[in-house]
Amino acid sequence: MGQACGHSLLCRSQQYRTPVAAELRGQQVFLRADDTPALSSLQDALLQLASVVDVSSLQTTIKDVLRVVLPNVECVFVYLLEAESRLRCEDPPHEVPPEGKLRDAVKQQKRLQCSGLPSAELHQKQSGSLSTPLPAHKQALVIPLVDGDEGKVIALILLCCKPLTEQDEQNLTILEKHLTVACKRVRDIQRCSKRPHTQSHNAPVEPKTSVQAEDYRELDRKILRLCGELYDLDAASLQLKVINYLQTETQSQCCCLLLVSEDNHQLFCQVVGDKVLEEEISFPLMFGRFGQVVETKTSIRLQDVSQEERGLLSSLLGFEPSSMLCVPVTSQATGQMVALACTFNKLGGQRYMEEDEHVIQHCFCYTSTVLTSTLAFQKEQKLKFECQALLQVAKNLFTHLDDVSVLLQEIIIEARNLSNAEICSVFLLDHFSHELVAKVFDGGVVNDDEKEFRIPADQGIAGHVATTGKILNIKDAYSHPLFYRGVDDSTGFRTRNILCFPIKDENEEVIGVAELVNKTNGPWFNRFDEDLATAFSIYCGISIAHSLLYKKVHEAQFRSHLANEMMMYHMKVSEEEVTKLLHSGIEPVQKIHPDFSEFTYTPRSLMDDSTPMGILSMFEDMGFINTYKINLHTLARFCLMVKKGYRDPPYHNWMHAFSVSHFCYLLYKNLQLSNYLEDIEILALFVSCMCHDLDHRGTNNSFQVDSQSVLAALYSSEGSVMERHHFAQAIAILNTQGCNIFEKFSRKDYQRMLDLMRDIILATDLAHHLRIFKDLQKMADAGYNPKRQSHRSLLLCLLMTSCDLSDQTKGWKTTRKIAELIYKEFFSQGDLEKAMGNRPSEMMDREKAYIPELQISFMEHIAMPIYKLLQEIFPRAAELYERVAANREQWAKVSHKFTIRGLPSNNSLDFLDEEFELLQSQGAFGDDSHRMNGCLDDDCDKHGQ
Ligand SMILES: [Zn+2]
Repeated sequence: MGQACGHSLLCRSQQYRTPVAAELRGQQVFLRADDTPALSSLQDALLQLASVVDVSSLQTTIKDVLRVVLPNVECVFVYLLEAESRLRCEDPPHEVPPEGKLRDAVKQQKRLQCSGLPSAELHQKQSGSLSTPLPAHKQALVIPLVDGDEGKVIALILLCCKPLTEQDEQNLTILEKHLTVACKRVRDIQRCSKRPHTQSHNAPVEPKTSVQAEDYRELDRKILRLCGELYDLDAASLQLKVINYLQTETQSQCCCLLLVSEDNHQLFCQVVGDKVLEEEISFPLMFGRFGQVVETKTSIRLQDVSQEERGLLSSLLGFEPSSMLCVPVTSQATGQMVALACTFNKLGGQRYMEEDEHVIQHCFCYTSTVLTSTLAFQKEQKLKFECQALLQVAKNLFTHLDDVSVLLQEIIIEARNLSNAEICSVFLLDHFSHELVAKVFDGGVVNDDEKEFRIPADQGIAGHVATTGKILNIKDAYSHPLFYRGVDDSTGFRTRNILCFPIKDENEEVIGVAELVNKTNGPWFNRFDEDLATAFSIYCGISIAHSLLYKKVHEAQFRSHLANEMMMYHMKVSEEEVTKLLHSGIEPVQKIHPDFSEFTYTPRSLMDDSTPMGILSMFEDMGFINTYKINLHTLARFCLMVKKGYRDPPYHNWMHAFSVSHFCYLLYKNLQLSNYLEDIEILALFVSCMCHDLDHRGTNNSFQVDSQSVLAALYSSEGSVMERHHFAQAIAILNTQGCNIFEKFSRKDYQRMLDLMRDIILATDLAHHLRIFKDLQKMADAGYNPKRQSHRSLLLCLLMTSCDLSDQTKGWKTTRKIAELIYKEFFSQGDLEKAMGNRPSEMMDREKAYIPELQISFMEHIAMPIYKLLQEIFPRAAELYERVAANREQWAKVSHKFTIRGLPSNNSLDFLDEEFELLQSQGAFGDDSHRMNGCLDDDCDKHGQ
């Protein structure tokens, strides 16, 4: 009987990897829920077969299994042995006839294949499908199931299917064994249930002195009942049932399973007795005698374990064990150790005997596979959960980009939770000082710079990780050569184990180190924690890098904001200045100069202190003050403020802004702009002219980018760095108390005004002008249409550029003087670039620039096309183009005198005028130009600076 039992165990364990199923489907069979329905139904059938305990389900199950294993099964009839020799079928109810082929198969105990049975042997209901002769593609199959112990047929199966292949035969042979075991078991159960019970389940059992066959039968029955209950998907409740079984069968006070972790490094325990632990407890596997159980696969008892291990057990159990039996459990599938089954305190103070060990081994023959597959399933579930947690963490981290400290704190909490660490610290690598800096410790942020914790970046465990960029998992801190005990000794904290991992940015550069200390639910950090840390560190790295970048930009904005505030403070316009400006009302333009509204007037001839009044006069003359109900004090304050908003480089100063604004006024007066643009657009153009170079530093856009200036940091991504700054400064002035000349505007008009100003000021970037030049030409060719929004927008850009370059439309002395100023400014930028180690462009390099050539080129390629376009749209603008062209001619004429590169040492181009004055005296120029140039006297030159 013992032999039979052993056989049944083998069959049981083979269910999960039966070659029948594997061959049948031509693929491996795994116990997984997502397999094909046919496979899972086979597994279900086999599982069912193994747990069948009654006759009717035995019959159904046999039919199911045969249909799965054999080809094209049409019908199955099952005859079970009743009494001593009656083989009886339930459906339809009849017995195997006393003679014939069926009876022969029973007598010979051999399988029979034939082309059908004589009708006389068959029941009415069978003859349709089994009568001889059957067609060639069908055959009748008679399978007797023989109990080797009793030496007789305990069941007979009759079926019709396709002829069997060799493989089918082999499969069937294996399946027969399963079927036989199942039938035997059901027979045994039937027999026992007919006998009166002598022992109830919980009654004390006589101590067993030897393992009898009868005991195993009894045990088999109990195990079957247990197996029938092991349907849980959750490993803990499964363990509860097995443990309960073990406690009863071994008469122990308490049992537990110490499960072997997948990496074979740990034992962990989830259930003790009837309690599911809130958090699983784990300890190192190679620790003491338990490790030896795993290695030698032999059982141990309490007297075998060390004092330390006893202490560990006591804390796990909650009581002092007086006796113990620890039995290795191997997986039926892989032969590997999967658990240690431990029973404690045999009732009645007795010792554990060999039969207890047998009971335990017997139990796991049946249950270990279910247990391991459930554990594997749970592990997969856990992984899935961890992945989701990780995604959540990533989401959390990215929402804290604005503050590195908060972000780091978040990282610490998440890292600690994910790995069950007692303490977590994050260090950022300071590349300058080559130190690791911890500003955030578990539980809080150190705001005080003095209290932040700094360690050399190449020392200790964190330093090692920062240097090598590799994760370090230290199982015993005190025995590690890199561990420094000093901190523990001074704080009383005991570091047991450490998981230290690098945090890298997107370029794989180490930017920090995270240190997890003391795993709380295990002896040390395991492989799983390492994998988690690696994945986690990638998220950390990216979010920290982004956060630092964000901080940088934020700081730049802050600095710029601060600088702005300081500038605004120093720019403050006093009430006295405002009152003084408005003291005697607004001066009519005619009083400033009779020719003030003529193209020939040179605004640079006006005294610097008269310019604010000049602006007010133009505002008044264009009707803006009336139309837009502009408060005079506000306007005066605004003008004074804008004037102060200009720095004092040679060219891009307030006088430039004033002359540009004046040219806008000239366009309004001379070209009837009102017919071409809306009122608000003209006002926007004029105010934009005033503001278009605010806070210019005498250096251009590429200089900002090359020198990585704050302005470039703020605006370089969008292009037109300086122009964006000029606009931002204009807004800053409008936002200053008492300076908003548009305060009475409707919300819509206000927005329109700011949008217009932005577009117009951005159009002063010559790069922008060159981009839209084709469109401008197209518009001029097609004819300007004031009703078209796109035409008005383009025209505003063209007018702005015309104003900006309007110095070229004045007389020779002006254009010559302007060249002086511009090149003075250019060359000083070139000098700065040289000092920075960069090579300036030719026109900025005082050693290379040949001014006449540069000027001619500028006029031919930039200035003249602009005024040509203007002339095409406004015929009255012809004189402007002519004067620019004349100035270009003059440059060509004087170029022979220009033998040097750069500027003369006195920065003056006066020497170029001798010839001009000669020509002038010969009456080569008309009256207008004569008068205009008369305005550009020495005084005027001074103001230009
Ligand atoms: Zn300008």
